[in-house]
Amino acid sequence: MSFKGEYQIANLEQRLPNNEVRCNLSPRNCKMKEGQLGFCGVRGNRDGRLVTYTFGKGVHLTEELIETEAIYHFAPGAKILSLGNIGCNLNCQYCQNWKTSQAKFVEDKDVHSFTPESIIETALRHNIRVLSWTYNDPVVWHEFVIATAKLAKKAGIKNLYKSACFITEEALDELLPHIDIFSVSIKAIDEAYYRKLTTGWLQPVLEATKKIYKAGKHLEVSNLMITDVSDNEQSARNMAGWVLENLGPEIPLHFVRFHPEYRMRDTVRTPIDRLERAQVIAKEMGLQHVYLGNVANTDATSSFCNFCGSKLVHRFGLAAHLESLKKDSSCGNCGKAVHFNALDLQDSLENTETTLPDNELVRHTYEWRGDIISIHVQAKNPTNKEASIYYRQKTMRQNFGKRFRLQPKRAFVSYWPNLMQKKSGWKLLYRIS
Ligand code: SF4
Repeated sequence: MSFKGEYQIANLEQRLPNNEVRCNLSPRNCKMKEGQLGFCGVRGNRDGRLVTYTFGKGVHLTEELIETEAIYHFAPGAKILSLGNIGCNLNCQYCQNWKTSQAKFVEDKDVHSFTPESIIETALRHNIRVLSWTYNDPVVWHEFVIATAKLAKKAGIKNLYKSACFITEEALDELLPHIDIFSVSIKAIDEAYYRKLTTGWLQPVLEATKKIYKAGKHLEVSNLMITDVSDNEQSARNMAGWVLENLGPEIPLHFVRFHPEYRMRDTVRTPIDRLERAQVIAKEMGLQHVYLGNVANTDATSSFCNFCGSKLVHRFGLAAHLESLKKDSSCGNCGKAVHFNALDLQDSLENTETTLPDNELVRHTYEWRGDIISIHVQAKNPTNKEASIYYRQKTMRQNFGKRFRLQPKRAFVSYWPNLMQKKSGWKLLYRIS
Protein backbone atom coordinates (compact mmCIF):
# COMPACT_ATOMS: atom_id res chain seq x y z
CA MET A 1 0.00 0.00 0.00
CA SER A 2 1.08 3.61 -0.50
CA PHE A 3 1.77 5.59 2.63
CA LYS A 4 1.07 8.88 0.91
CA GLY A 5 -2.70 8.68 0.82
CA GLU A 6 -4.55 8.89 4.10
CA TYR A 7 -3.37 11.19 6.86
CA GLN A 8 -4.45 12.44 10.24
CA ILE A 9 -3.80 15.52 12.37
CA ALA A 10 -0.51 15.10 14.23
CA ASN A 11 0.55 15.94 17.77
CA LEU A 12 3.00 18.73 18.55
CA GLU A 13 1.60 21.06 15.96
CA GLN A 14 2.35 24.78 16.01
CA ARG A 15 0.12 26.76 13.67
CA LEU A 16 1.72 29.83 12.11
CA PRO A 17 0.52 32.81 10.02
CA ASN A 18 -0.05 32.34 6.28
CA ASN A 19 -1.23 28.75 6.73
CA GLU A 20 2.25 27.63 7.68
CA VAL A 21 2.87 25.09 10.39
CA ARG A 22 5.77 23.97 12.56
CA CYS A 23 6.38 20.42 13.80
CA ASN A 24 7.74 20.25 17.33
CA LEU A 25 8.24 16.49 17.44
CA SER A 26 11.96 16.44 16.74
CA PRO A 27 14.62 19.11 17.25
CA ARG A 28 14.54 19.96 13.55
CA ASN A 29 11.30 21.86 14.23
CA CYS A 30 10.49 21.85 10.52
CA LYS A 31 8.52 24.86 9.33
CA MET A 32 6.30 23.91 6.40
CA LYS A 33 4.26 25.81 3.87
CA GLU A 34 1.00 24.33 2.67
CA GLY A 35 1.64 21.07 0.80
CA GLN A 36 5.21 20.68 2.02
CA LEU A 37 6.68 17.69 3.86
CA GLY A 38 9.16 17.84 6.71
CA PHE A 39 12.69 16.44 6.64
CA CYS A 40 11.38 12.97 7.61
CA GLY A 41 9.07 12.83 4.59
CA VAL A 42 6.13 11.42 6.57
CA ARG A 43 4.74 14.54 8.29
CA GLY A 44 3.57 17.57 6.42
CA ASN A 45 1.31 20.60 6.07
CA ARG A 46 -2.18 19.89 4.73
CA ASP A 47 -4.49 22.90 4.64
CA GLY A 48 -2.48 24.67 7.32
CA ARG A 49 -2.51 21.70 9.71
CA LEU A 50 0.33 19.42 10.75
CA VAL A 51 -0.47 15.88 9.64
CA THR A 52 1.11 12.45 9.86
CA TYR A 53 0.88 10.15 6.85
CA THR A 54 1.98 7.00 8.67
CA PHE A 55 -0.49 6.36 11.49
CA GLY A 56 -0.92 2.57 11.30
CA LYS A 57 1.46 2.19 8.37
CA GLY A 58 4.70 0.29 8.83
CA VAL A 59 6.90 -2.54 7.65
CA HIS A 60 6.15 -6.20 8.35
CA LEU A 61 6.08 -7.42 11.95
CA THR A 62 8.85 -9.68 13.20
CA GLU A 63 9.18 -11.93 16.23
CA GLU A 64 12.65 -11.59 17.74
CA LEU A 65 14.42 -11.80 21.09
CA ILE A 66 14.86 -8.83 23.38
CA GLU A 67 18.66 -9.03 23.04
CA THR A 68 18.24 -7.93 19.40
CA GLU A 69 17.50 -4.47 20.75
CA ALA A 70 20.63 -4.15 22.89
CA ILE A 71 18.56 -4.84 26.00
CA TYR A 72 20.34 -7.39 28.18
CA HIS A 73 19.06 -6.54 31.67
CA PHE A 74 15.30 -6.75 31.17
CA ALA A 75 13.74 -10.20 30.90
CA PRO A 76 16.71 -11.94 29.22
CA GLY A 77 15.56 -14.17 26.38
CA ALA A 78 12.05 -12.68 26.21
CA LYS A 79 10.29 -12.71 22.88
CA ILE A 80 9.48 -9.33 21.37
CA LEU A 81 7.25 -8.21 18.54
CA SER A 82 9.35 -5.80 16.47
CA LEU A 83 7.49 -2.94 14.83
CA GLY A 84 9.12 -0.64 12.32
CA ASN A 85 7.67 2.24 10.36
CA ILE A 86 8.87 4.40 7.52
CA GLY A 87 10.66 7.73 7.34
CA CYS A 88 13.17 9.11 9.81
CA ASN A 89 14.23 12.42 11.28
CA LEU A 90 17.88 11.40 10.79
CA ASN A 91 19.78 10.23 7.72
CA CYS A 92 22.65 8.14 9.04
CA GLN A 93 25.37 7.40 6.52
CA TYR A 94 25.48 3.71 7.51
CA CYS A 95 21.75 3.10 8.07
CA GLN A 96 20.86 -0.61 7.99
CA ASN A 97 17.23 0.19 7.19
CA TRP A 98 17.74 2.92 4.61
CA LYS A 99 15.23 1.48 2.15
CA THR A 100 12.44 2.22 4.60
CA SER A 101 13.93 4.90 6.85
CA GLN A 102 14.41 7.26 3.95
CA ALA A 103 10.90 7.95 2.68
CA LYS A 104 12.00 8.56 -0.91
CA PHE A 105 13.15 4.92 -1.24
CA VAL A 106 10.03 3.31 0.22
CA GLU A 107 8.17 1.02 -2.16
CA ASP A 108 4.45 0.32 -1.80
CA LYS A 109 5.11 -3.42 -1.38
CA ASP A 110 7.01 -2.72 1.85
CA VAL A 111 4.15 -0.84 3.52
CA HIS A 112 1.60 -2.72 5.62
CA SER A 113 -1.47 -1.50 7.44
CA PHE A 114 -2.09 -2.02 11.18
CA THR A 115 -4.34 -0.81 13.94
CA PRO A 116 -3.39 -0.64 17.61
CA GLU A 117 -5.88 -3.46 18.20
CA SER A 118 -4.37 -5.68 15.49
CA ILE A 119 -0.88 -5.25 16.98
CA ILE A 120 -2.07 -6.30 20.43
CA GLU A 121 -4.00 -9.22 19.02
CA THR A 122 -0.90 -10.44 17.15
CA ALA A 123 1.29 -10.16 20.24
CA LEU A 124 -1.17 -12.04 22.41
CA ARG A 125 -1.72 -14.74 19.81
CA HIS A 126 2.02 -15.41 19.75
CA ASN A 127 2.37 -15.17 23.52
CA ILE A 128 4.65 -12.12 23.21
CA ARG A 129 4.73 -9.76 26.17
CA VAL A 130 6.99 -7.00 24.86
CA LEU A 131 6.35 -4.70 21.88
CA SER A 132 9.52 -3.26 20.43
CA TRP A 133 9.30 0.06 18.56
CA THR A 134 12.40 -0.22 16.41
CA TYR A 135 14.18 -0.37 13.02
CA ASN A 136 14.13 3.06 11.32
CA ASP A 137 13.31 5.18 14.36
CA PRO A 138 10.03 5.24 16.25
CA VAL A 139 10.18 9.00 16.86
CA VAL A 140 8.36 9.77 13.60
CA TRP A 141 5.65 7.18 14.41
CA HIS A 142 4.81 9.11 17.58
CA GLU A 143 1.02 9.08 17.51
CA PHE A 144 0.72 5.40 16.57
CA VAL A 145 3.32 4.38 19.17
CA ILE A 146 1.40 6.13 21.94
CA ALA A 147 -2.03 4.88 20.86
CA THR A 148 -0.78 1.28 20.70
CA ALA A 149 1.35 1.48 23.83
CA LYS A 150 -1.71 2.58 25.82
CA LEU A 151 -3.61 -0.51 24.69
CA ALA A 152 -0.58 -2.71 25.31
CA LYS A 153 -0.37 -1.55 28.89
CA LYS A 154 -3.99 -2.52 29.47
CA ALA A 155 -3.22 -5.97 28.04
CA GLY A 156 -0.22 -6.44 30.34
CA ILE A 157 2.29 -5.99 27.51
CA LYS A 158 5.47 -3.93 27.97
CA ASN A 159 6.75 -1.35 25.50
CA LEU A 160 10.37 -1.13 24.40
CA TYR A 161 11.56 1.97 22.54
CA LYS A 162 14.78 1.56 20.53
CA SER A 163 15.73 4.91 19.24
CA ALA A 164 18.36 7.55 18.65
CA CYS A 165 16.08 9.71 20.80
CA PHE A 166 16.56 12.77 18.61
CA ILE A 167 13.35 14.12 20.08
CA THR A 168 12.13 17.34 21.70
CA GLU A 169 11.50 17.56 25.40
CA GLU A 170 7.78 18.15 24.92
CA ALA A 171 7.47 15.07 22.69
CA LEU A 172 9.36 12.98 25.23
CA ASP A 173 6.97 14.22 27.91
CA GLU A 174 4.09 12.78 25.86
CA LEU A 175 5.92 9.49 25.34
CA LEU A 176 7.45 8.74 28.72
CA PRO A 177 4.32 7.58 30.58
CA HIS A 178 3.74 4.85 28.01
CA ILE A 179 7.19 3.29 27.58
CA ASP A 180 8.78 0.83 30.01
CA ILE A 181 12.16 0.13 28.39
CA PHE A 182 14.45 2.46 26.45
CA SER A 183 17.38 1.33 24.31
CA VAL A 184 19.05 4.60 23.36
CA SER A 185 21.56 4.59 20.54
CA ILE A 186 24.08 7.39 21.04
CA LYS A 187 25.52 7.21 17.58
CA ALA A 188 28.63 9.26 18.35
CA ILE A 189 29.75 11.07 21.48
CA ASP A 190 31.58 13.69 19.44
CA GLU A 191 29.33 16.54 18.25
CA ALA A 192 31.12 17.03 14.93
CA TYR A 193 30.96 13.32 14.07
CA TYR A 194 27.33 13.15 15.16
CA ARG A 195 26.46 15.88 12.66
CA LYS A 196 28.51 14.36 9.89
CA LEU A 197 27.29 10.79 10.36
CA THR A 198 23.61 11.36 11.14
CA THR A 199 22.73 14.93 10.00
CA GLY A 200 21.30 15.43 13.49
CA TRP A 201 22.94 16.96 16.55
CA LEU A 202 24.00 15.45 19.82
CA GLN A 203 22.79 17.69 22.63
CA PRO A 204 19.04 16.88 22.41
CA VAL A 205 19.94 13.17 22.42
CA LEU A 206 21.98 13.52 25.60
CA GLU A 207 19.26 15.61 27.26
CA ALA A 208 16.59 13.05 26.34
CA THR A 209 18.72 10.20 27.70
CA LYS A 210 19.21 12.00 31.02
CA LYS A 211 15.49 12.64 31.26
CA ILE A 212 14.68 8.98 30.61
CA TYR A 213 17.11 7.98 33.34
CA LYS A 214 15.65 10.46 35.82
CA ALA A 215 12.18 9.14 35.04
CA GLY A 216 13.32 5.75 36.38
CA LYS A 217 12.71 3.83 33.17
CA HIS A 218 14.69 0.73 32.31
CA LEU A 219 17.52 2.20 30.24
CA GLU A 220 20.42 0.73 28.29
CA VAL A 221 22.74 2.73 26.05
CA SER A 222 24.52 1.63 22.90
CA ASN A 223 27.29 3.30 20.97
CA LEU A 224 28.29 2.34 17.44
CA MET A 225 32.06 2.04 17.04
CA ILE A 226 32.72 2.91 13.41
CA THR A 227 35.98 1.71 11.96
CA ASP A 228 38.64 4.43 12.04
CA VAL A 229 36.03 7.01 13.06
CA SER A 230 34.84 6.24 16.57
CA ASP A 231 36.52 2.97 17.48
CA ASN A 232 39.46 4.56 19.27
CA GLU A 233 40.25 4.54 22.99
CA GLN A 234 39.44 8.21 23.52
CA SER A 235 35.95 7.77 22.09
CA ALA A 236 35.37 4.80 24.43
CA ARG A 237 36.59 6.89 27.37
CA ASN A 238 34.34 9.80 26.46
CA MET A 239 31.33 7.53 26.07
CA ALA A 240 31.88 5.67 29.34
CA GLY A 241 32.66 8.94 31.13
CA TRP A 242 29.40 10.49 29.97
CA VAL A 243 27.36 7.51 31.16
CA LEU A 244 29.12 7.55 34.55
CA GLU A 245 28.71 11.27 35.04
CA ASN A 246 25.14 11.66 33.82
CA LEU A 247 23.47 8.30 34.36
CA GLY A 248 24.99 5.72 36.66
CA PRO A 249 27.54 2.89 36.82
CA GLU A 250 24.72 0.33 36.76
CA ILE A 251 23.43 1.41 33.32
CA PRO A 252 24.47 -1.19 30.71
CA LEU A 253 26.61 0.18 27.87
CA HIS A 254 26.88 -1.71 24.58
CA PHE A 255 29.74 -1.02 22.17
CA VAL A 256 28.31 -2.10 18.83
CA ARG A 257 30.31 -3.39 15.91
CA PHE A 258 29.92 -1.40 12.71
CA HIS A 259 28.63 -3.14 9.61
CA PRO A 260 29.11 -1.50 6.16
CA GLU A 261 25.81 -0.35 4.66
CA TYR A 262 24.08 2.41 2.66
CA ARG A 263 26.62 5.20 2.00
CA MET A 264 29.43 3.58 3.96
CA ARG A 265 29.84 0.33 2.10
CA ASP A 266 33.53 0.93 1.47
CA THR A 267 34.35 0.83 5.18
CA VAL A 268 35.34 -2.46 6.80
CA ARG A 269 33.75 -3.90 9.95
CA THR A 270 35.14 -2.75 13.27
CA PRO A 271 38.16 -4.86 14.30
CA ILE A 272 37.18 -7.00 17.29
CA ASP A 273 40.28 -6.04 19.28
CA ARG A 274 39.25 -2.37 19.25
CA LEU A 275 35.82 -3.27 20.60
CA GLU A 276 37.38 -5.44 23.29
CA ARG A 277 39.71 -2.60 24.25
CA ALA A 278 36.72 -0.27 24.60
CA GLN A 279 35.04 -2.81 26.88
CA VAL A 280 38.11 -3.05 29.09
CA ILE A 281 38.42 0.76 29.31
CA ALA A 282 34.77 1.29 30.24
CA LYS A 283 34.95 -1.41 32.94
CA GLU A 284 38.17 0.02 34.35
CA MET A 285 36.47 3.42 34.56
CA GLY A 286 33.75 1.94 36.75
CA LEU A 287 30.86 0.88 34.53
CA GLN A 288 29.44 -2.37 35.84
CA HIS A 289 27.85 -3.82 32.72
CA VAL A 290 29.65 -3.32 29.41
CA TYR A 291 28.87 -5.48 26.39
CA LEU A 292 29.84 -5.86 22.76
CA GLY A 293 27.09 -5.88 20.15
CA ASN A 294 26.95 -7.49 16.69
CA VAL A 295 29.58 -9.95 17.87
CA ALA A 296 28.62 -13.60 18.17
CA ASN A 297 29.95 -16.53 20.17
CA THR A 298 31.97 -14.59 22.72
CA ASP A 299 31.73 -14.03 26.45
CA ALA A 300 31.73 -10.30 25.71
CA THR A 301 27.96 -10.65 25.30
CA SER A 302 27.37 -12.65 28.49
CA SER A 303 26.64 -11.14 31.91
CA PHE A 304 28.89 -11.68 34.91
CA CYS A 305 28.52 -10.79 38.56
CA ASN A 306 30.63 -7.74 39.43
CA PHE A 307 31.22 -9.05 42.92
CA CYS A 308 32.17 -12.72 42.55
CA GLY A 309 32.65 -13.07 38.77
CA SER A 310 30.20 -15.93 38.27
CA LYS A 311 28.33 -16.05 34.98
CA LEU A 312 24.80 -14.73 35.41
CA VAL A 313 23.48 -15.06 31.85
CA HIS A 314 25.13 -16.97 29.03
CA ARG A 315 24.44 -15.53 25.59
CA PHE A 316 24.96 -17.39 22.39
CA GLY A 317 24.19 -15.27 19.37
CA LEU A 318 21.14 -13.52 20.68
CA ALA A 319 19.80 -16.43 22.68
CA ALA A 320 20.05 -16.08 26.46
CA HIS A 321 20.35 -18.79 29.07
CA LEU A 322 20.13 -17.94 32.77
CA GLU A 323 22.99 -19.39 34.74
CA SER A 324 23.54 -18.05 38.27
CA LEU A 325 21.06 -15.15 37.94
CA LYS A 326 18.13 -15.58 40.33
CA LYS A 327 14.58 -14.36 39.78
CA ASP A 328 15.00 -11.68 42.46
CA SER A 329 17.87 -10.14 40.43
CA SER A 330 20.56 -11.39 42.73
CA CYS A 331 23.61 -13.49 42.01
CA GLY A 332 22.96 -17.12 42.89
CA ASN A 333 26.56 -17.52 43.95
CA CYS A 334 27.25 -14.52 46.22
CA GLY A 335 23.71 -13.20 46.75
CA LYS A 336 24.47 -9.60 45.77
CA ALA A 337 22.02 -7.46 43.72
CA VAL A 338 23.01 -7.36 40.04
CA HIS A 339 20.57 -4.94 38.34
CA PHE A 340 18.19 -6.98 36.22
CA ASN A 341 14.50 -6.23 35.73
CA ALA A 342 11.37 -8.22 34.94
CA LEU A 343 12.88 -11.64 35.38
CA ASP A 344 9.38 -12.97 35.82
CA LEU A 345 8.84 -12.09 32.16
CA GLN A 346 11.92 -13.80 30.85
CA ASP A 347 11.40 -16.61 28.47
CA SER A 348 14.95 -17.78 28.35
CA LEU A 349 16.23 -21.09 27.21
CA GLU A 350 16.55 -22.99 30.39
CA ASN A 351 18.21 -26.39 30.38
CA THR A 352 20.48 -25.44 27.51
CA GLU A 353 23.19 -27.98 26.85
CA THR A 354 26.38 -27.32 25.01
CA THR A 355 27.21 -30.79 23.73
CA LEU A 356 26.43 -32.05 20.27
CA PRO A 357 23.94 -34.88 20.09
CA ASP A 358 25.15 -38.34 19.23
CA ASN A 359 22.83 -38.53 16.31
CA GLU A 360 20.52 -36.17 14.54
CA LEU A 361 17.03 -37.41 13.93
CA VAL A 362 16.02 -34.81 11.40
CA ARG A 363 18.45 -32.88 9.31
CA HIS A 364 17.70 -29.82 7.24
CA THR A 365 20.63 -28.64 5.20
CA TYR A 366 20.58 -25.37 3.35
CA GLU A 367 23.13 -24.50 0.75
CA TRP A 368 23.43 -21.15 -0.91
CA ARG A 369 25.69 -19.18 -3.16
CA GLY A 370 27.04 -15.89 -1.95
CA ASP A 371 27.43 -14.54 1.54
CA ILE A 372 24.82 -14.23 4.24
CA ILE A 373 24.62 -11.62 6.97
CA SER A 374 22.32 -13.29 9.45
CA ILE A 375 20.52 -16.50 10.26
CA HIS A 376 17.22 -16.84 12.05
CA VAL A 377 16.46 -20.21 13.58
CA GLN A 378 12.90 -20.75 14.70
CA ALA A 379 11.53 -23.95 16.16
CA LYS A 380 8.26 -24.79 17.83
CA ASN A 381 7.23 -27.80 19.83
CA PRO A 382 3.47 -28.13 19.36
CA THR A 383 3.24 -31.39 21.32
CA ASN A 384 2.62 -32.05 25.01
CA LYS A 385 6.02 -33.74 25.41
CA GLU A 386 9.49 -32.29 25.75
CA ALA A 387 11.43 -32.21 22.47
CA SER A 388 14.88 -31.16 21.37
CA ILE A 389 16.39 -29.11 18.61
CA TYR A 390 19.99 -29.32 17.49
CA TYR A 391 21.71 -26.95 15.18
CA ARG A 392 25.20 -26.57 13.93
CA GLN A 393 27.15 -23.70 12.50
CA LYS A 394 29.85 -24.97 10.18
CA THR A 395 32.29 -22.52 8.65
CA MET A 396 35.85 -22.66 7.39
CA ARG A 397 37.08 -21.95 10.88
CA GLN A 398 34.69 -23.62 13.23
CA ASN A 399 32.15 -26.33 13.64
CA PHE A 400 29.94 -25.34 16.54
CA GLY A 401 26.89 -27.20 17.67
CA LYS A 402 24.25 -26.72 20.29
CA ARG A 403 21.28 -28.58 21.67
CA PHE A 404 18.21 -26.93 23.17
CA ARG A 405 15.40 -28.59 24.99
CA LEU A 406 12.03 -27.43 23.83
CA GLN A 407 9.41 -27.55 26.54
CA PRO A 408 5.88 -28.63 25.53
CA LYS A 409 4.01 -25.92 23.62
CA ARG A 410 7.04 -23.64 23.64
CA ALA A 411 8.83 -21.88 20.81
CA PHE A 412 12.48 -21.09 20.38
CA VAL A 413 13.89 -18.31 18.27
CA SER A 414 17.54 -17.60 17.68
CA TYR A 415 19.07 -14.85 15.61
CA TRP A 416 22.71 -14.72 14.66
CA PRO A 417 23.50 -11.34 13.17
CA ASN A 418 26.38 -10.72 10.85
CA LEU A 419 27.38 -14.32 10.72
CA MET A 420 29.67 -13.85 7.77
CA GLN A 421 32.22 -11.18 7.17
CA LYS A 422 30.80 -9.90 3.92
CA LYS A 423 27.40 -8.48 3.32
CA SER A 424 24.59 -9.50 1.06
CA GLY A 425 20.83 -9.52 1.27
CA TRP A 426 20.48 -13.15 2.37
CA LYS A 427 18.55 -14.26 5.37
CA LEU A 428 17.77 -17.86 6.18
CA LEU A 429 14.75 -18.83 8.20
CA TYR A 430 14.96 -22.34 9.59
CA ARG A 431 11.74 -23.60 11.06
CA ILE A 432 10.49 -26.80 12.61
CA SER A 433 6.90 -26.87 13.76
S1 SF4 B 1 9.39 14.78 12.91
FE1 SF4 B 1 9.71 15.19 10.74
S2 SF4 B 1 8.49 17.02 10.30
FE2 SF4 B 1 8.68 16.88 12.52
S3 SF4 B 1 10.44 18.17 13.01
FE3 SF4 B 1 11.22 16.09 12.79
S4 SF4 B 1 11.84 15.87 10.66
FE4 SF4 B 1 10.57 17.71 10.81
